[in-house]
Amino acid sequence: MPRRLRPPPAADPDAPRRGRLYRALERAYPDAQCALRHRNPLELLVATILSAQCTDERVNLVTRRLFETYRSPEDYARASVEALEQEIRSTGFFRSKARSIQAACRTLVERFGGRVPATMAELVELHGVARKTANVVLGVAFGRAEGVVVDTHVFRLARRLGLTRSDTPEKVEQDLMRTVPRSRWISLSHQLIHHGRRVCKARRPLCAVCPVETLCCAPDKALAFAPSPGARRAP
Ligand code: SF4
Repeated sequence: MPRRLRPPPAADPDAPRRGRLYRALERAYPDAQCALRHRNPLELLVATILSAQCTDERVNLVTRRLFETYRSPEDYARASVEALEQEIRSTGFFRSKARSIQAACRTLVERFGGRVPATMAELVELHGVARKTANVVLGVAFGRAEGVVVDTHVFRLARRLGLTRSDTPEKVEQDLMRTVPRSRWISLSHQLIHHGRRVCKARRPLCAVCPVETLCCAPDKALAFAPSPGARRAP
């Protein structure tokens, strides 16, 4: 009996638009980088934990002094948790952040020889480290694309820009990993974060000056801000 051939996968009709969108973001934000000040993977790990529910500017202010006091995982592991809490107090949620930093650093000392590991499986074993933080550390400190950073900006923009319909960060990340080339996982998340901070803000997206407006299918964009004549457009 002749073997039945499996039909080819259906073409994705939105793929050309997504490709133009990714290229437009690359042109608009070619130098987008992580804004958290750091000199090594440990500092980036600590800064990323501190950045939850806090601006990068505030985190950078706090870490300027923090990183002079605490220079190794042993320093955090041995510290008085009350002293650490006071150092990071202005970043908010300081008690749970202090506990996370200290527990993570104890694990670094006890299990990883005092070094920040460079794999997703090991990073998410650290207290207070989930995929978002692990993706930041892997992508920025080690240049490894094991996933896509989905913070509040990436989550919002991926949905507004029609890159996903999912409603959890985990599912949004999986959708982006399926449709974005791996070589773009790190840079795309930086570009979406920059776009979300500067233009596609949560409450008042600045659609009139948006460099990807012509490629955006957000249902609320026209209601929020109609493009003004002469505004820049992606080709
Ligand atoms: S057009 Fe408006 S909603 Fe769409 S990406 Fe640009 S700023 Fe965001």
